[in-house]
Amino acid sequence: DKPRVLVLFGGRSSEHEVSCLSARGVLWAIDPDIYDVVSVGITRTGRWTLMPHGVPRTREGTLPAVPEDGETVTLVQTRVGPRLMLLPDDVDAGAADVVDADRGRTVDLGGIDICFPVLHGPYGEDGTIQGLLASVGVPYVGADVAASAIAVDKRQMKHVFAAAGLPQVAHDVVRRADWERDPEGELARIEGLLEYPVFTKPARQGSSIGISRCTDTESLRAGVEDALGYDRVVIIERGLDGVRELECGVVGNDDPVITAPGETIHTGASFYDFDAKYLEPVKLQCPADVPDDVIERCRDYAAQAYDAVGARGLARVDFFYLPDSDEVLVNEINTIPGLTPQSMFPPVWEAQGVAFRVLIDRLLAYAMEASEESA
Ligand code: ADP
Ligand code: MG
Ligand code: MG
Repeated sequence: DKPRVLVLFGGRSSEHEVSCLSARGVLWAIDPDIYDVVSVGITRTGRWTLMPHGVPRTREGTLPAVPEDGETVTLVQTRVGPRLMLLPDDVDAGAADVVDADRGRTVDLGGIDICFPVLHGPYGEDGTIQGLLASVGVPYVGADVAASAIAVDKRQMKHVFAAAGLPQVAHDVVRRADWERDPEGELARIEGLLEYPVFTKPARQGSSIGISRCTDTESLRAGVEDALGYDRVVIIERGLDGVRELECGVVGNDDPVITAPGETIHTGASFYDFDAKYLEPVKLQCPADVPDDVIERCRDYAAQAYDAVGARGLARVDFFYLPDSDEVLVNEINTIPGLTPQSMFPPVWEAQGVAFRVLIDRLLAYAMEASEESA
């Protein structure tokens, strides 16, 4: 019998659509000769629903929208292992006595051997889904609960990177409670610590959602307010001008393999915002056209960053390269990097001769390996 892979996508985060784009490629890439695949979409409200679509014929494109009225499924531990269950139709209590008996039964949809959570951001990349999978005993692709939670939270990530001695951009934090008590005091404090421009970011988001570049007190105020709409903690960073953005792919467990960095070249947008990432054509240069010692520093920092947060399986480590001062700063680590055709993670591997299908196959193998070790 072939191992059965559960592909989870969609989800509650603002990156729902990005996840659907990533998941299409993953479903396309999983080798049907080796694995059976079951696809479950998570709605924006967090309900799991069985997706009846088959294997996509092409990698490009998205998946059918996760239907709000689809049938609910759940993953449970049973005497014979973790299994996917189709739940009875939701019943409105007053009508319970007229419900068709068949529709009132839970249906076993079979065992699950491994899960590929293709989910970005909160409730997917942050350790919550990983905790659910771990508790029912399903091995999964990617970082464990603790590493996911640290990596998704820019404040905790920065603490861990600082402890590992990694170079980062100067930053500070604003907490919602302090802001609500004394916004003027918070603004004055930030202005005393960091020069404009600054970037404001929600601590736990991705895809540039809630991020602003601020150049004066009023735009800083607006930036903090906006970011506080996503998280009770906001990161304020010194804004770097004339910066180049390099990103390394990492896969593996104890001895991860690290790619040469690729470069995202953004034209038009003032920074690499959501539109630039997904709606406008972006130029990816793989490998990046930078001096060899910059490539080596990126790889070295990527290995340290991966180890520092305790990542497993895969991650993308992102850098700011300042050509004038020849500095490489670590920006962030993403434990479920975008896997869309516009994303950086697949082509940095292709540039080293690892095709997308081979990459996905390795990720599933690393997940099995990690679960055997921990057993
Ligand atoms: P996300 O997790 O949403 O990708 P990032 O911290 O990577 O958040 O920021 C998104 C983008 O915003 C970066 O890729 C970069 O283009 C720009 N950016 C973020 N921080 C800075 C900074 N301190 N200086 C200059 N540009 C920045
Ligand atoms: Mg990110
Ligand atoms: Mg980023």
